[in-house]
Amino acid sequence: MKFELPKLPYELNKLEPVISAKTFEFHYGKHHQAYVNNLNNLVPGTPFENASLETIIKEADGGIFNNAAQIWNHTFYFLSFSPNGGGEPKGKLAALIIREFDSFDLFKEKFTKAAATLFGSGWVWLVLNKDGKLEITQENNAGCPLKHGLKPLLTIDVWEHAYYLDYQNRRPDYISAFWNIIDWNVIEGRV
Ligand code: MN
Repeated sequence: MKFELPKLPYELNKLEPVISAKTFEFHYGKHHQAYVNNLNNLVPGTPFENASLETIIKEADGGIFNNAAQIWNHTFYFLSFSPNGGGEPKGKLAALIIREFDSFDLFKEKFTKAAATLFGSGWVWLVLNKDGKLEITQENNAGCPLKHGLKPLLTIDVWEHAYYLDYQNRRPDYISAFWNIIDWNVIEGRV
């Protein structure tokens, strides 16, 4: 099997109560794993047989794109968290946020609004564009900023499978709790 489910740097009950072990059991253990299995089944015999995930995301479409992007997006999302997360970014990222959004609180407000208003399933991203400026983008379904030449820094999964077991229909409560587990050192390292 070419593609594999990534190992996560924390125990799966350590992000409670923001994300429960039960949600991890399904979201990581079943959904993320299914995208990995699907892609491993889809690529043999295609031009993407030996391609990296990033190349597939940039060049493929249809089911191959969807499964590759969902593997990449989920890995990126799950690797953004820590049981000791929360607070605010420091250093270069903090400076970029203040330059673009005036303050961390105003950034948080805009990102939260983008996540709350994305209709249906998808992802909201904080990205660096080609001019080195921060942008908040909404992507439907498996959408991934790599496809548009943007550099992803932070994402929130707003598919219902990301929050329904813990928050049912209360997406705003999930978004509000999400800030408490972000490892800003990891996010800063992506700048
Ligand atoms: Mn998901």
